[in-house]
Amino acid sequence: MKFGGTSVGSPERIKSVVNLVNDDKPKIVVLSAMSGTTNSLVKISGLLYDGNKEADAEIDQLEDKYKAVVNELYGNEENRKRASGFITRRFNLLRSFSGHPFTAVDEYTVLAQGELLSTTLTWLYCEELEIDSVLLPALSFMRIDRNGEPDSYYIREQIDRELKLYPDVKLFITQGFICKDASGEISNLKRGGSDYSASLIGNAINADEIQIWTDIDGFHNNDPRYVKGTKAIRELSFSEAAELAYFGAKILHPASVWPAQEADIPLLLKNTMEPEAPGTIISSKTVDEGIKAIAAKDNITAIKIKSGRMLMAYGFLRKVFEVFESYQTPIDMITTSEIAVSLTIDNTVHLDKIIRELKLYGSVGVDRKMTIICIVGNNIMHCKDSISKVFKALENVPVRMISYGGSRHNISILTDSEHKLEALNQLNKYLFTDGRKRHNHPGQD
Ligand code: ASP
Ligand code: MG
Repeated sequence: MKFGGTSVGSPERIKSVVNLVNDDKPKIVVLSAMSGTTNSLVKISGLLYDGNKEADAEIDQLEDKYKAVVNELYGNEENRKRASGFITRRFNLLRSFSGHPFTAVDEYTVLAQGELLSTTLTWLYCEELEIDSVLLPALSFMRIDRNGEPDSYYIREQIDRELKLYPDVKLFITQGFICKDASGEISNLKRGGSDYSASLIGNAINADEIQIWTDIDGFHNNDPRYVKGTKAIRELSFSEAAELAYFGAKILHPASVWPAQEADIPLLLKNTMEPEAPGTIISSKTVDEGIKAIAAKDNITAIKIKSGRMLMAYGFLRKVFEVFESYQTPIDMITTSEIAVSLTIDNTVHLDKIIRELKLYGSVGVDRKMTIICIVGNNIMHCKDSISKVFKALENVPVRMISYGGSRHNISILTDSEHKLEALNQLNKYLFTDGRKRHNHPGQD
């Protein structure tokens, strides 16, 4: 069971998490940092890199927040003292970086404090309620290899070893996000990585179920930030969920789908504010045909390479892809014509160098501030009307690229970000509400 930042974001929320996990079922509880903490730690790291004295004030401010949490969370003086002592040690560690050259390892150490704080405070609260639980140090089992990929074999062995130490314990609490790297230095699974931790742990222990608890009742069929009247989706397949998670539905870290899929463990998305709500179940079972959801991913850059040499030539695409590979830049969408290829990336760190090299093969054009609208479902291509509804909906939206047929689960559309709102709402109207009846939906218009 993984709980995100808002789910442990206040003493009150921590109490309800403990209440939720306190039953007889054996489980590992994976926690994020309290909401806002990792952002503060990122800011503090930046200041420490710059040798900026303001780091101290930021650290003090964050410490004050935690002191307030401790005062509110614990009922007895003894526990309050233990928790305060722990906090003081963590924040003194942060202060010790001030005034020295700041390294990458120092930064990882700073970023790790959020999860170390949230898990320890939660565990101490379990102690106060005399709930038998163990705080498992993620740094003793979570590890990535030289390519930054999780070291599944190591993770399984080490977590097994840890769990065997406590044969009678049912409740384990551990940190999401943080890990060690191949040389044993502290590292992490990148922002939002606690979901990934939970899924990797679920895979390693062959769990019955992996539950991700957040502050929304599962995947919605469209982005609730931009579209009114969206609905939670009850069931998704792993492939559908992977597409949605990647293309912008912020609720789940995209990498957390494969560990569940590999071990065929259902992944359940639940809402901590509404624990009784069914949420979304992601499993290998594919249910219902047709379009189920729409998501949007911003900050996309489209690159077009046009070359007369591509005409009836082979090997052209390989050369183009090799440029992206050599700069470790993933490609998301591709479309080709006989003399040109367009593709999209979201990581633009090496864009200038990539363009320079691509120019060896033809003329290169770049469009920034684009959005991928991703339409996801099961067997979309076999569903009558799906594609025509999509085109109808986008009648007035300038479409830069379309990708269809890459899988049975997805249609991707690239448009200028300024047309995103219209595209999402029009698609919603044509795909999820009956055009004629839509005035009957309360709150829709
Ligand atoms: N605390 C980390 C972050 O804010 C990891 C997570 O919450 O998943 O990115
Ligand atoms: Mg998250």
